[in-house]
Amino acid sequence: MIIQNELKLDFKDVLFRPNKSSLQSRNNVNLVREISFKHVKNYKWCGVPIMAANMDTTGTFEMALEFYKHKMFTSIHKHYSLQDWSDYLPDIFLSNIGKDIFNYISVTSGITTNDLSKLDKIIAKFPDIRFISLDVANGYMEIFGDTIQDIRNKYPDKVIIAGTVVTSELTEELLTKGADIIRVGIGGGSVCTTRKKTGVGYPQLSAVLECATAAHKLNGHIISDGGCTCPGDIGKAFGGGADFVMAGGLFSGHDESGGELIVIDGKKFKEFYGMSSEVAMKKHNGGFSKYKTSEGKRVLIEYKGPVENTIVDILGGLRSTCTYVGVRDLNQLYDNAIFIRVTQQLNEVYGK
Ligand code: 5GP
Repeated sequence: MIIQNELKLDFKDVLFRPNKSSLQSRNNVNLVREISFKHVKNYKWCGVPIMAANMDTTGTFEMALEFYKHKMFTSIHKHYSLQDWSDYLPDIFLSNIGKDIFNYISVTSGITTNDLSKLDKIIAKFPDIRFISLDVANGYMEIFGDTIQDIRNKYPDKVIIAGTVVTSELTEELLTKGADIIRVGIGGGSVCTTRKKTGVGYPQLSAVLECATAAHKLNGHIISDGGCTCPGDIGKAFGGGADFVMAGGLFSGHDESGGELIVIDGKKFKEFYGMSSEVAMKKHNGGFSKYKTSEGKRVLIEYKGPVENTIVDILGGLRSTCTYVGVRDLNQLYDNAIFIRVTQQLNEVYGK
């Protein structure tokens, strides 16, 4: 047994140190990033690198339509059937947007034979799909690397997102196996109970710092996945080296989010739940196998209206982060961020 004593940090443990700035206004900040990938050489992505999580409550086609307006990315959840793709994609996207939508969505798949066979069918039907997200709760299983290798061989021109992991060795390994982008985050999600059920996890900011350093050395990229509770946390993830930031909870509770709308005493709420919660398991898998336990919970989120309001709030916050730090874009934010460790992040005398 080993105890690692070095302190690991979460977003709440730090604040950005402000810096002198020559920027005249938040409007001078550019949140669009150009990204070239490790394995897919003849393609450059250009957009605002914020992603809606591939949960069935946030990774919806309706969400993707709104995110697209800001050149943001939606990881479409894996529970849509081929029929759903065929119903939605031509109607909602291809008629309104055209093929550019494929730069801003990914198809998600697990690694079971059934999952992978559905993935093949969706790609056969929509060969312009650019991004494949291979999604497992525990990216440390050996079979995950093997699957990435198979998918890389089968789809050499698709950008592969793989996760989740939280350490440098697995980041390197999955990139070497064929992933272009690694999803980083275990246990930090808003409706995740992995830390409670298993005792496993890693403070998110430190995971991002460690995995970003490892990935960038190999020309790979990372997504900071989960744990952002406010726009400031998204800025901190970028400052720590994330190339993309993925969030679920922040995008829950909106018109475009999945989950039932529930009215209690005249007040509207929307359901939000972890993808390995009992609710999700019942909905998609008919319940749990006896050897498994739920690692997610269900909550009711006060109804938030259109997601556009939240997007504007997040992008405004991020522009402001950049002006306080004195940088013009997200690349410079990573290069120039100085974090100070704090014992108290917020003044909560009147609530959060
Ligand atoms: P959030 O932005 O809500 O803090 O975190 C979203 C992330 O939580 C997702 O992208 C996914 O990685 C993770 N997640 C979603 N559902 C579950 C779950 O049921 N269990 C666990 N352990 N993680 C989940």
